[in-house]
Amino acid sequence: MAEEKTEGQLLAEKLGFKITNAWEKVSNEDAKTIAAFANRYKAFLNAGKTEREVTALTLERVRSAGFIDIEQSLASKEQFVPGTKVYHNIHGKALNLAILGKRPLTEGAVIVGAHLDSPRIDLKTNPLYEDTDFVLLDTHYYGGIKKWQWPTVPLALHGVIFGKDGEKKTICIGEEEEDPVFVITDLLPHLSRDFDQKKMSEYITGEELDILAGSAPLRDEKATDKVKLNLLRILNEKYGITEASFASAEIEAVPAHRARDVGFDRSMIGAYGHDDKCCAFASIEAILTIADREEAPERTVVCVLTDKEEIGSMGNTGAEARSFEDFMAYLIAKTTDGSGDLALRRALGHSAMLSSDVNAAFDPNFPTVFDKKTCSYLGRGIAISKYTGGGGKYGASDANAEFLHHVLKIFDQNGVQWQYGNLGKVDKGGGGTIALHFARLGMDVLDCGIPVLSMHSPFELISKIDLWITYKGYLAFLQNS
Ligand code: MN
Ligand code: MN
Repeated sequence: MAEEKTEGQLLAEKLGFKITNAWEKVSNEDAKTIAAFANRYKAFLNAGKTEREVTALTLERVRSAGFIDIEQSLASKEQFVPGTKVYHNIHGKALNLAILGKRPLTEGAVIVGAHLDSPRIDLKTNPLYEDTDFVLLDTHYYGGIKKWQWPTVPLALHGVIFGKDGEKKTICIGEEEEDPVFVITDLLPHLSRDFDQKKMSEYITGEELDILAGSAPLRDEKATDKVKLNLLRILNEKYGITEASFASAEIEAVPAHRARDVGFDRSMIGAYGHDDKCCAFASIEAILTIADREEAPERTVVCVLTDKEEIGSMGNTGAEARSFEDFMAYLIAKTTDGSGDLALRRALGHSAMLSSDVNAAFDPNFPTVFDKKTCSYLGRGIAISKYTGGGGKYGASDANAEFLHHVLKIFDQNGVQWQYGNLGKVDKGGGGTIALHFARLGMDVLDCGIPVLSMHSPFELISKIDLWITYKGYLAFLQNS
């Protein structure tokens, strides 16, 4: 017979709040669903390591799910009806998706928004140079990286470059088994005595993060810079490009490894680019789940996939650009007869959004920077960040209590396990997301997403169950707000 609970135990159950490991509640059947979902996510990551690639992949998917190009629809007078599925392609690097709801858009849309860009190493506009029979690629890192983490990691090159004929060539080298890879070298420990005394932030500088790209010279007695010339010859044969082609190219060096299961229990996924492709994947899956249904959603649901978050969201593909407002204006024009700015402003102001971005998970190797009561943990569900920012909440979009209460109620009612997700101890650092760029428009916004270990490193870690729960959370929010 079970022992009777004491008054204290009963009171603790009634009044306290304890967040447990989400795997404990998972049935064998659920475990299979979660594993299958994780496998699809790994395939998504492997096929899309850059914002351009994920945009292209997602466009293909949403088109086959019946989404239509809003730019083309604007040419006709025909109004959108509830259930209409539309997309807006933002320069091939970002994407807005929507499914029109039954209620008027002036009552606001329900939005999930993630970013597709991840920290990486970009090639400079004139990257090729020869030094002691090596050709190196000069780079400029993108986003907040710990520079010393990137040497000796096999790298792949992704991007676009224009040939002499004016044709745009898509570059992807280092992802196939037989492809060559690229690498930034590091110093052997035997000669590293002086370097090892440096501050870690100065161990290797941004200017030193140059990528090894070749070492075999052209066979010609009289030519100079023969290794570089040989490399240009190879590139010209393969892509029709010349040295000047790099001036207008966008080429990103990213880790060449694939997403892998981590741990004996396969509970985690290690990969490049979880930030923020895991939340992007969960967001895309959520809106596509709604797209699959016969019935139109009550309110218009929107999925925003943006670029440039890692460098402050500026530029015409970032969240600070007006592309989202334009998208909403287009939707207003296609759903109301009066249209106009007032209707748009009402739609924006009455909208509600989850800014779907990753969170820093507690790391037992570095416990001192985390507040254990309010940080997120791998395997405990979707992480809620009331605010981000740094110092005295500086630069934060601090979510309103009323909206937090609304979101948590939806999660509780739909069995979505949530946890706290504050970035770290007060004054230990800080960060930001796209939240403030949407909050600026008047809508309620809350940061919430997936806890990550080793964030911004070449091999980030998430838990499969958090990915699954986050998808469920975004879906519940889109359907019940
Ligand atoms: Mn992020
Ligand atoms: Mn980030």
